[in-house]
Amino acid sequence: MGERYEVIVVGAGAAGLMSAATAADRGRRVLVLDHARRPGRKLLASGGGHCNFTHLDSGPAHFLSDNPRFCISALQRYTPYDFLALLERYGLGYEDRGGGQLFCRQGSRAILEMLHGERSRAGAELRTATPVRAVRRHEAGYSLATAGGELACESLVIATGGLSLPRSGASGFGYAVARQLGVPVRPTRPGLVPLVLPAALQERLAPLAGISVPAGVACGDAAFHEALLITHRGLSGPAALQASSYWRPGEALHLDLLPGQAPREALEAQRRRRPRATLQRYLEGHLPKRLARAVVELHGLTGPLQGYRNADLDAAAAALADWRVTPVDTEGYRKAEVTVGGVDTRALSSKTLAVRDQPGLFFVGEVLDVTGQLGGHNLQWAWSSGVAAGRFA
Ligand SMILES: Cc1cc2nc3c(=O)[nH]c(=O)nc-3n(C[C@H](O)[C@H](O)[C@H](O)COP(=O)(O)OP(=O)(O)OC[C@H]3O[C@@H](n4cnc5c(N)ncnc54)[C@H](O)[C@@H]3O)c2cc1C
Repeated sequence: MGERYEVIVVGAGAAGLMSAATAADRGRRVLVLDHARRPGRKLLASGGGHCNFTHLDSGPAHFLSDNPRFCISALQRYTPYDFLALLERYGLGYEDRGGGQLFCRQGSRAILEMLHGERSRAGAELRTATPVRAVRRHEAGYSLATAGGELACESLVIATGGLSLPRSGASGFGYAVARQLGVPVRPTRPGLVPLVLPAALQERLAPLAGISVPAGVACGDAAFHEALLITHRGLSGPAALQASSYWRPGEALHLDLLPGQAPREALEAQRRRRPRATLQRYLEGHLPKRLARAVVELHGLTGPLQGYRNADLDAAAAALADWRVTPVDTEGYRKAEVTVGGVDTRALSSKTLAVRDQPGLFFVGEVLDVTGQLGGHNLQWAWSSGVAAGRFA
């Protein structure tokens, strides 16, 4: 049967380390395994290295899931304020970069070191560069065939993340184990990911790459008002990344380049006041010059406003406030921050994060079908779900 632990956590990322420290604090003999030589690369990349480690308003409205209420219990039992108390114990500072999005003053590495500090303080062991080759269930728990030999445990916590950012060590391991042990997995797709536009539009917009403007981006019922960045291949920036998690192939995005304004009324007033002015001139008051020119050319909205009939003003206003573009693809897992979909939470207890009919098997973090919006929600989910499982594993 091999070396025995009470708890084995597979994955030494954000969620796995929280689970391990919490379980070891209860006196459980815990081992954390990771196939990477230096785990935690996704955490190190988070927030551009500054780690947007939580959002003070984290709650179900900020998560996508086929089972939207599942996340509530864990989020309520380990809140952003609990994580802030942990930061304080380690002397780490933070700043609010708007609306409750908290970033660590000392950066992502300090958060990773803090998590390992907690893990080793609580007495959980870590083995890196240890791929798990197979998992078997038996009456007393689970056994794992690893590169370093056979291991056994009562409780197995799968914290191997999703498919986003493969160079961080991401793998489909968690989904494979779930399927093997009879736990359903919902279809996955990249989320918080730049979107690719059709070639013809790419060509028109490529000279504008790097321009970022405040904009509204809506996809179905989800709408976001944040910065929109034009890239060489399409759209990125917080507004597009947010919308990407909701986007399905074939669906149009609705772009509002003049958020918070009423362009139809504004254009009519402009036509009255300065009939010889062009739409481009008007737009240059609101958008970068190059973008203003590209937009009017793209929509054929040239000539002085006095030549516009009311129907033309309607069309111009729609082009500005409800510009429909249909991406052809996303930039894929390589550039995605998260994986939408994953292990079906209906099979799990929302209190313990254990599989209902296999109380020794837990899934935490990104591997689950719980995906946060941009702003610190995904890491808060990693902390909350990790702690929830660690209390019962
Ligand atoms: C570029 C980028 C920036 C981000 N910024 C933020 C941010 O600022 N705020 C925020 O809230 N979220 C952010 N996220 C999302 C956030 O980092 C993730 O949601 C979170 O790290 C998921 O934690 P996890 O523990 O579930 O998985 P991970 O952190 O991915 O950890 C999984 C671990 O499992 C290991 N593993 C995988 N397969 C195996 C296997 N077969 N055997 C053994 N070990 C395995 C991996 O090596 C890894 O160490 C960002 C993501 C990216 C990619």
